[in-house]
Amino acid sequence: MLKLICMDLKDLKLTAKRQEICKRLGFNSSYDVLSYYPYKYDNYEIVRYKDFKIGETIMFEAELITSPSTFRYGKRSTTRFKVLYDDEQLLVTIFNRPWIRNLDINDKVVIIGKYDGNNKVTALNYYTKDVNELVGIVPTYSTSEGISQNEIKKLISLVYENCSEELVEHLPSEYIKAHNLIDYKTAIFNIHNPINSDLLRKSLARLKYEEFLNFYVALNILKGNTTNSIKNKKVFDQDKIDAFIDSLGFKLTTDQETCIKESLNDLASDKIMYRLIQGEVGSGKTVISEVMLYANYLAGYQGCLMAPTEILAKQHYESFVRDFACLGIKIGVLYSAMDNEKEVKRQIENGELDIIIGTHALFSNDVSYSNLGLVIADEQHRFGVKQRNALKNKGDNTDFCLMSATPIPRTLASSLYGDMDISTIETLPSGRKGCKTYLIKKNSIVDILDVVKDTLKQGRQIYIIAAAIEKSENYNAKDVTGLYNSLLNELSPYKVSLLHGKLSSQEKDLIMKDFNDNKIQVLISTTVVEVGVNVKNATMMIVYDADKFGLSQLHQLRGRIQRGNYEGVCFLLTNSKDESVIKRLEVLCNCNDGFKISLEDLKLRGPGDILGTRQSGLPTFILGNIFEDGKFIEAAKKDAKQICDNLDDEEANKYYNYMMENIKDKVIS
Ligand code: ADP
Ligand code: MG
Repeated sequence: MLKLICMDLKDLKLTAKRQEICKRLGFNSSYDVLSYYPYKYDNYEIVRYKDFKIGETIMFEAELITSPSTFRYGKRSTTRFKVLYDDEQLLVTIFNRPWIRNLDINDKVVIIGKYDGNNKVTALNYYTKDVNELVGIVPTYSTSEGISQNEIKKLISLVYENCSEELVEHLPSEYIKAHNLIDYKTAIFNIHNPINSDLLRKSLARLKYEEFLNFYVALNILKGNTTNSIKNKKVFDQDKIDAFIDSLGFKLTTDQETCIKESLNDLASDKIMYRLIQGEVGSGKTVISEVMLYANYLAGYQGCLMAPTEILAKQHYESFVRDFACLGIKIGVLYSAMDNEKEVKRQIENGELDIIIGTHALFSNDVSYSNLGLVIADEQHRFGVKQRNALKNKGDNTDFCLMSATPIPRTLASSLYGDMDISTIETLPSGRKGCKTYLIKKNSIVDILDVVKDTLKQGRQIYIIAAAIEKSENYNAKDVTGLYNSLLNELSPYKVSLLHGKLSSQEKDLIMKDFNDNKIQVLISTTVVEVGVNVKNATMMIVYDADKFGLSQLHQLRGRIQRGNYEGVCFLLTNSKDESVIKRLEVLCNCNDGFKISLEDLKLRGPGDILGTRQSGLPTFILGNIFEDGKFIEAAKKDAKQICDNLDDEEANKYYNYMMENIKDKVIS
């Protein structure tokens, strides 16, 4: 998400309670607070008795004609009383508000509730204030336990009052006029305190348009920084590349071939490559990175492959060492806090290494390359301005390629990754057995224990995935540590081990190695195995609390058990009774197509939510909806280009610079 320049909340001297709210809702700046938009609005109007309709929400003010009587059952209660409204006697029922007993005959009360017919009303809430204070559009914010709507509203008002000088107009007036937009300050006010529905609609339109415009201007800025740049053409011997491909032991799929062709063309051209390769889990992206890095090596350059985790970096390193065994290429691996870090950095600097595989450590300040020609970021959905700049500082001739396993439909991708070329691998290598997925509506393996033991008896290995590392009060999910303790005996004599991000890298290494060598049969793990990990003999996966994961993430996870020649079996366990959750998970049981799944995921959760995790492939729009706001997207895209092409215009220039300032060290998308 693009965060705009704003005030640090520390400068606001908030009360301890408010600071706690900010912490829990993740607010660091005034912008975070002011852009914490409501997720819904209710329109409260007084409804006359004659207009009551069964099943509809109503609000009215009435007078009690009986005292409330309460029935309690455990912690719960039901309270009933009669009121007089528009000369009608109505029976009101309200749940779990036993204190409403304090009301008495002749008292006035405002009821908001549902009309059940026959003069019966189920109240959702009641108020003792004047009904006219309640009339209007009422926003609702998503919140966490213990933080009331009112507290959120008060915090937002406070920030709004104290930051008004920040709420100035940044958009060039030309576009405000062209799209008939209201000004920024009015929009921010009305999105939180809608005066009427017309202003609310206009506020939404204004803020949505702005979100998209900011995004596309930022993209244009980035594009100017990268893809236009000219580099030296890379010259390599295609015959050697063909020979390498022949040595692989399998035939490339047509999509792989096309991808390789497209990316080799990029390397050979005089424009800096900026390409996204997207392909389903298991579609064979690693070999494409090998071919590219080989070509880059043949052209006389160093190259590197960046992986999101150390486990994956080491695994890639092993595949590279194996696949390049006879070619005399010097391959190294680099991650933070490794034993011979200094030595590896020295070798990179001296050009003693040709291909370096590693984590983010590859881009730390103290790594200098002798002659960097190509960087490939694997399973990296976020590659921000900061990283791009870091990259630019490492070499003038550096081509760049991003690999993603959360594929999205091409048209969507090209409108969102506006500044990248895109290659897509749609088909999996043939002979893949795929994966059967079953939903178990119980967060336990008792019902599948026989199958689990059978799988182990056949010599196969199993991943068990949990959403938490340790038991926690705030997060209601099974934890790997607890599962390990409870399954250890259950699954003996097979060796069960634990893997999670808090282990030291030596511990992680050893466990992954033992799992790879089948010294461990059951690996109980958090999502650290989510990306890339490749153990062909592991064919079963059991995911506890499957509802806690996104669809794309689960699809990624089950990709771990589709690496070899056996059919994978995946069990998704959940205690959830929520129908929408069940429906969402069932998508995975019926579909093994990553494109469809990510689309489904996007539709169900919106990109914002998906973007919260590494899995995300799309930029966050807080209000904007990439499926519904095509009109805004198109307009913003066009306007952004015009703004960037017209920097002689004073206002356009000012806004452009403002955006430059904003994205200076921030990650977008
Ligand atoms: P991903 O796209 O998820 O990164 P990988 O590159 O890890 O997938 O490939 C998964 C497995 O498929 C690897 O074991 C790889 O050697 C194998 N593979 C890749 N391409 C082919 C192919 N064309 N035919 C058969 N197997 C292939
Ligand atoms: Mg991969």
